[in-house]
Amino acid sequence: MKSYVNWINGEHTVGSSKRLGKVFNPAIGEQIANILLSNSTDVDSAVMAAKKALPAWSALSPIRRARIMFKYNELLLKHTDELSELISIEHGKTIEDAKGDVTRGREVVEFACGIPHLLRGDFTEEVGTGIDAYSIRQPVGVCAGITPFNFPAMIPLWMFPLAITCGNTFILKPSERDPSCPLRLVELAKEAGVPDGVVNVVNGDKEAVDAILHHPDISAVSFVGSTPVASYIYSTAAESGKRVQALGGAKNHMVVMPDADMDQAAEALMGAGYGSAGQRCMAVSVAVAVGKNTADELIKNLVPRIQELKIGPGTDSDIEMGPVVTEQSYNRVKELIDKGVDEGAELIVDGRDFTMQGYENGYFLGGTLFDNVTEDMEIYKQEIFGPVLSVVRSPDYETAVDLVNRNEYGNGTAIFTKDGDAARDFSERVQIGMVGVNVPIPVPVAYHSFGGWKRSLFGDTHMHGMEGVRFYTRLKAITSRWPKSGVREGHSLNMPTME
Ligand code: NAD
Repeated sequence: MKSYVNWINGEHTVGSSKRLGKVFNPAIGEQIANILLSNSTDVDSAVMAAKKALPAWSALSPIRRARIMFKYNELLLKHTDELSELISIEHGKTIEDAKGDVTRGREVVEFACGIPHLLRGDFTEEVGTGIDAYSIRQPVGVCAGITPFNFPAMIPLWMFPLAITCGNTFILKPSERDPSCPLRLVELAKEAGVPDGVVNVVNGDKEAVDAILHHPDISAVSFVGSTPVASYIYSTAAESGKRVQALGGAKNHMVVMPDADMDQAAEALMGAGYGSAGQRCMAVSVAVAVGKNTADELIKNLVPRIQELKIGPGTDSDIEMGPVVTEQSYNRVKELIDKGVDEGAELIVDGRDFTMQGYENGYFLGGTLFDNVTEDMEIYKQEIFGPVLSVVRSPDYETAVDLVNRNEYGNGTAIFTKDGDAARDFSERVQIGMVGVNVPIPVPVAYHSFGGWKRSLFGDTHMHGMEGVRFYTRLKAITSRWPKSGVREGHSLNMPTME
């Protein structure tokens, strides 16, 4: 059986911790590897390596760091199939979907290739007589990233390529459920020319995370995961003086207006609701149908598509949806469906009894659809993170917008309509970080930034794009004067002004 350890100073490194976790293949429901669960000594070794690599790396000119990213981008492209297979085996998502995971991450590497331009400062000549002012952005130091299971390529790649091209060094603590892709990502980074110690991986769970949060030599922490953990990361890291961005969970609504093309809306909901078995932070889990006919039409369009979903191991070709990630997750989703029935939601398609021939121990669920879901129900309140879509019936547009705005989460939302006024009004008034107009999964491209509002993001800066550059650098303003030697102006104790 494979055993995953840490990656410190450019090599696989056994830790001092004796604790091990289990990595499963969710399609067969069996353990396929062990993973080291690091302790604070192991985290400290990674921090020491990152600290040692920092001076030389941050002194390298941005164009030279960018050249390494160009090479890295090529290697990621070349290894996309291999990385996708690693993801599919441990996560369960289909190979095609896993390729998207790698590609969306790689796009951030492409963005990081532009770092010489992105780090360009501002200069103002003659702010006073013979005085110039300029602002520069400098690295923050050793940064850390803690990532979730659901995008084992994209989310680590949201973080470390940009952090290091900004001149920082990095420690990644990937999800302990699917660590093989992140480990391969850093091996490839070394092959691209990233010097040893610049990117390190510490595997583990809460113990490793806590050691990161309290480590005095880590300056900034990026986190993506569930809301309770994001909130904890934010307060704990901020209290120990670190810069933090902590992205949390979601409950994403798609508002379907009566004038929408129902066929298109249903197609969009299939991908957004059931893609990756509903385990995306931008998954749509609530369809808000405006008007009775809209709900009826939408359901009529959805049901046959859900019943015909091609479910199976993600590594098989022609599969649309794989299993959920763990047995615990499988049981939780099933219990939530039971709860929805108990609470009076109308179960239109029931995915609980789905079994996969030859894969009876896999964590497979069928696509599930509820109608007449209301705000007080657990299936509405909780982020289910499984292939379960709820239809909430809304009498009118205003009620639909209020519903979305009242929700505690604010990650993504979408409106499907042919009415430009409604779309513009929705984009303007909705209290959500990422909005799609006839786009069901509005994940911003790499040169824009990704982040939610409300309890979907703790901290101020979103990921990647210019927000990412700002997060991984700090601003320095320099006021400079070169007086002629020998000229005496006398001293003044007054506040200097340009008067
Ligand atoms: P998770 O919160 O369980 O784990 C995320 C990371 O935190 C992992 O590395 C894990 O080891 C660590 N962790 C878990 N419990 C911890 C604790 N008590 N203390 C310290 N660290 C802990 O999340 P997950 O199940 O891996 O991922 C799914 C969640 O992530 C969903 O809620 C999803 O919405 C969210 N997510 C959000 C975004 C976003 O951009 N907002 C993107 C992807 C996933």
